[in-house]
Amino acid sequence: MSDGEIQARYYATGQSVRVGWRQGIINRFEAAAAPPGRDPWLAPALVDLQINGFAGVDFQRDNLTIEEVLVAARALREAGCVRFFLTLITDEWPKLVERLKRLRQLRDGHEELRHAIAGWHIEGPFLSTEPGFHGAHNPALMLDPTPDHIRELRALTHTDPVLLTIAPELQGALEAIALARSLGMKVSLGHTNASSEVLRKAVKAGATGFTHLGNACPQLLDRHDNILWRALDTPGLSVSLIPDQIHVSPPLFRLVHRVLRTEAIYYTTDAMAAAGASPGRYSIGPLEVEVGPDQIVRQPGKSNYAGSALRPIDGVFRAARMLGRDWRGAWDGFSICPAKFMSIGVGLTMGSPADFCLVQTDESGGLESLRVFSHGKETL
Ligand SMILES: [Zn+2]
Repeated sequence: MSDGEIQARYYATGQSVRVGWRQGIINRFEAAAAPPGRDPWLAPALVDLQINGFAGVDFQRDNLTIEEVLVAARALREAGCVRFFLTLITDEWPKLVERLKRLRQLRDGHEELRHAIAGWHIEGPFLSTEPGFHGAHNPALMLDPTPDHIRELRALTHTDPVLLTIAPELQGALEAIALARSLGMKVSLGHTNASSEVLRKAVKAGATGFTHLGNACPQLLDRHDNILWRALDTPGLSVSLIPDQIHVSPPLFRLVHRVLRTEAIYYTTDAMAAAGASPGRYSIGPLEVEVGPDQIVRQPGKSNYAGSALRPIDGVFRAARMLGRDWRGAWDGFSICPAKFMSIGVGLTMGSPADFCLVQTDESGGLESLRVFSHGKETL
């Protein structure tokens, strides 16, 4: 925990501000008299709700060490993301549960990880087995959710924030959604081919999100009736988008922003082990995947994507490019919006952790340099 003070231009207003912190907590935030000049931009740290691995570390592997998890968390922080939801994908249920148990123990025993891992995203095995909809998840391992599964997840995670991605058309899913909500978890629909009627029932049961819209569906869709139209036509869902310009095409990305309120959209990288690492072959659990220079992850010989190798900070700039906005206009989609969706604290307010980014841009508006602070400290 540190004490400190900086002067910078506040990203939301363009005004010069002075921000101070004691013991890593913001205790001063006020307008500064000096002209902003070339001071760096100040913005709240990024938050990513779907991180499967990073910097060569695969969270789906058994027996990860604390050093490995720290490598991933620190590389994420260097990419602007101070807090994230560690994501576990479909596997045999006992294996998934064991991983969650172990990772939670690692996190609880380490102060830096307690702050970095803000919660858990459980994506599978309660997903569609239909071709295209299961994506890179193994359909043979999918399960229908039962109250016991949901209670087990809650017992393992206690009061931690949990995001559960679920396909609502599965047997018992609506009851599972209602139970998860009553136990304080958030539910996002995804890897699903549910009808409009079932999507609306899922919202009624307590689902509030839709996971990586535009992904986890077949390449070819019925133009009259498909999961994209149905999800966008269902009131009450916040959607996550992977803003790498590939998972969601730029026209669709812009359209989603026209259809939904800004606060109902948040960005995620859905990053896997290759993110923040060089192009090459990597593993996600039992899957072997290939990462191209475009930071896209593919299963060799298949056309579907298997997560991204996008870095959070690059996601902000790519989102801004697609929207034809300044990067500052895309920042909240990767910070304030996901944090609000999961009801975790974020933002540069008195009494909050001094988690922020100092951004310097070049003349064309591209990223020139990035400094990232967690609890007021740049390096931990
Ligand atoms: Zn997915």
